[in-house]
Amino acid sequence: MSEALPGMPPAPPPAVPRLASVVVLYRRVGPNVEVFWVKREKALAFAGGFYAFPGGKVDKADAQVPMRGAEGEQAALRVAAARELFEEAGVLVAEGAEALGPERVKELRRALLSGQRGWKALLDEAGLSLRAEDFHEAGRWITPPYMPVRFDTYFYLVEVPPHAQAEFLPGELAEATWVVPAEALARWEQGTALLHPPNLHALQVLGRFDTRGQVLERLCAPPHCPDFLATIIEFQQGVRLVPMATPTLPPATHTNTYVLGNGELLIIDPGAEDSLECERLFEVLDILKAEGRRPVAVLLTHHHGDHIGGAKLLKDRLGLPLWCHARTADRLDVPAERILEDGDVLELAGTPPQRWRVLHTPGHARGHVCLVDERSHAAVVGDMVAGVGTIVIDPPEGNMRDYLTQLARLRDLPVTTIYPAHGGAIPDGPGKLQEYIQHRAAREARIMEALPTEGATVAQVVEVAYADTPAFLHPVAERSALATLEKLVEEGRARVEHGRYFLT
Ligand SMILES: [Zn+2]
Repeated sequence: MSEALPGMPPAPPPAVPRLASVVVLYRRVGPNVEVFWVKREKALAFAGGFYAFPGGKVDKADAQVPMRGAEGEQAALRVAAARELFEEAGVLVAEGAEALGPERVKELRRALLSGQRGWKALLDEAGLSLRAEDFHEAGRWITPPYMPVRFDTYFYLVEVPPHAQAEFLPGELAEATWVVPAEALARWEQGTALLHPPNLHALQVLGRFDTRGQVLERLCAPPHCPDFLATIIEFQQGVRLVPMATPTLPPATHTNTYVLGNGELLIIDPGAEDSLECERLFEVLDILKAEGRRPVAVLLTHHHGDHIGGAKLLKDRLGLPLWCHARTADRLDVPAERILEDGDVLELAGTPPQRWRVLHTPGHARGHVCLVDERSHAAVVGDMVAGVGTIVIDPPEGNMRDYLTQLARLRDLPVTTIYPAHGGAIPDGPGKLQEYIQHRAAREARIMEALPTEGATVAQVVEVAYADTPAFLHPVAERSALATLEKLVEEGRARVEHGRYFLT
């Protein structure tokens, strides 16, 4: 992404967190426990494609349902927990539920999911009552302010009742199953199961199930979590996210700095010039250093201001070398100590070690690089793809043909999770890359349609081909339209005369 242009609307204020409940459902298996985890559908706006526990937001109607042993908000939170647990896992935790047969439970669940029956009506009809004592307080987490959707989430630990049968139904979930915490954590280590901080913490705690009391105590006291906000965000082992507020292109408000490694640490795109924002990154690095890890370098994916703002401060304060491509180095005010080339492998010692392969991916910027982890095939992709907003291809720096070639290259590797510089992590990397390629192809088709026989200027093309884009974004769209027109000219499918484009 590029820096914000004048005339852009200001970034929206952070979303207000909505009250939500999550249930960590467990069952005893010998001396250990298994937990019921779910994989969220990849299309969901919040944590799509991530692994999590059953849960969701508190409905207005939840306040109408009695919860014996709790009142007010504390009651409504547990009512929502019980409802979400029933909807998503099929487990009914209520007094009287043991008397219902499995067929009756399934029928009630279907009625609730289809909206045929409300939660209160369903409980009344089946003669069930909810009890606060079944839902043990297991911590509170607030989604950080940079996320477009935010929740103020209360976790509850629930042991599955002997009569209940957890069961997966497709819908908002792609998968739902019992898992041994150690196995779930191994998947997180391999990068095949992405976890948000609360869910990672819960699995780490449940991996050692001494007594329920001790487990609850540890669940409620996560490390590095002031005001219920997680400082360390590690979606897969050794890939940590530190979002920093930057003057970037709306609707994005932040640039993602990544801290890679399990021993030696590589810091990618410290974008904020603002020293207060940089302090948050230093805080994360201090925690990691106290755990025995050590930053070794700062790496820039490309030269845009919202990616390099804090590089000098970091270099000076920590005495770190700067690594980037030659076409990035020649734009910087600070010297680069290492010039990266396509195919370079960056080894980070640690347990386990990491090897990141450098891909030179011009298109958005001439010196743009991506990093691909040789073990998990996760990719840190800078501004190739955005989890929020759009990528601008701005000639002559930007080149649409190069950009499309590199998108296809990443797709075909194939990569797994992609970590963009703006917006959330994308578990289905190839799917997203394909979507980008198709989106650009559709736009190119519209641009070709917008070229009349008498020819058109770039601005005229944008009026027609970008009619679906808000007018304030048209200056940005003009740059991408120009990049597409230049591609058509390069391919011999269009020609340009005195600033007017014609089909050939
Ligand atoms: Zn950029």
